[in-house]
Amino acid sequence: MDNVNYTKPLKAEPNKRADDSIMLECLNINKSYGGLKAVQNVTFAVKRQSLTSIVGPSGCGKTTALRLIAGLEVPDSGSLTIDSITVSNNKTFVPPEKRSVGLVFQDYALFSHMTVNQNVAYGLDRPASESDRVSTVMELVRIQQLGNRYPHELSGGEQQRVALARALAPNPKLILLDEPFSNLDAALRTKVRAEVKQILIESGITSIIVTHDQDEALSLADQTGVMFNGQIEQIGSPEEVYKTPASLQVATFLGNANVLLGEGGNKVVECELGRLKTNSSLKGPVHITIQPELIHAESADSASSHGQVIEREFYGHDQVIVIRLNSGQIINSRCGSELIIQPGQQVAISLLGPVSVFPVGQRDIS
Ligand code: ATP
Repeated sequence: MDNVNYTKPLKAEPNKRADDSIMLECLNINKSYGGLKAVQNVTFAVKRQSLTSIVGPSGCGKTTALRLIAGLEVPDSGSLTIDSITVSNNKTFVPPEKRSVGLVFQDYALFSHMTVNQNVAYGLDRPASESDRVSTVMELVRIQQLGNRYPHELSGGEQQRVALARALAPNPKLILLDEPFSNLDAALRTKVRAEVKQILIESGITSIIVTHDQDEALSLADQTGVMFNGQIEQIGSPEEVYKTPASLQVATFLGNANVLLGEGGNKVVECELGRLKTNSSLKGPVHITIQPELIHAESADSASSHGQVIEREFYGHDQVIVIRLNSGQIINSRCGSELIIQPGQQVAISLLGPVSVFPVGQRDIS
């Protein structure tokens, strides 16, 4: 494989992350299959040594976007630059093996007839036994002791790490991970996710991960792009996209936000929960999005009640209280598990932070 650089150190200096230079730039990328616009005007940049997540519902175009970056698909239009080299535009198309991009797939795609050592060495131009790079990368990914095993002799988490080691071995400029944790059960998933994040940081590689899992997208990345219908609707730090969603769709997808109707004013909104503070000013009829963890419920008499608890889902670390408001609308409150409120109780609701508002139809933002 081209672009193998044995002299470049694998480990980044501690805390040296995400300098401000750009490793990947996608500009107005489009890709259709027949009449279906799988990717539309996708524009974003990825800083060197950073981790970007792209999250969205099934079929929104995440994998297609990744395949376009890898060079496994040819865009209909737009330009792609990796490390200041144009790899795709209306005149140029650099094939995948010349892009210096590593891939980790959902099913890991390990070669079943090869040992771990051979799998990891696959993209290198010398055998595993002769390559310092294989041992360096296996140490980084903490699979040194597994070198002579075959993939069927490994757990899901170990297979995942071998796939990562194989992608890292040729020292690519960029690593792309497509739903890398979806084959792991819930308990292992959280552990492997944390390990992979640590490995990506230690290796100093620039990474993009696509997932449909909101927690994964927010907890792993330096920047998160939220994708619907082939388009990136919002991209920013996990805090930005979660706390100040750009649209109703982003708010409900990322935060499982409750949606109420109200009348917007100057940084406030009137609704059946009373007058609430808002993140922005929007006058007239609005949709209000309220993340469940912002809703505080406490038992109340019927005069001060906003609604009745109809269900309590207890998770141990926290709980979700399902409330039917006096209007009949159902909302969720996520709160600490020490609060004891049972179905049937009347509750008064207060808000623990500002809410977001979005126009119903088209209204002016003041
Ligand atoms: P998932 O999370 O389910 O993997 P996704 O967000 O990764 O979905 P894509 O796989 O990128 O979505 O697909 C986007 C759209 O493009 C879908 O409607 C899909 O059916 C369509 N599509 C993807 N690849 C092809 C193809 N080779 N030919 C025709 N349509 C395709």
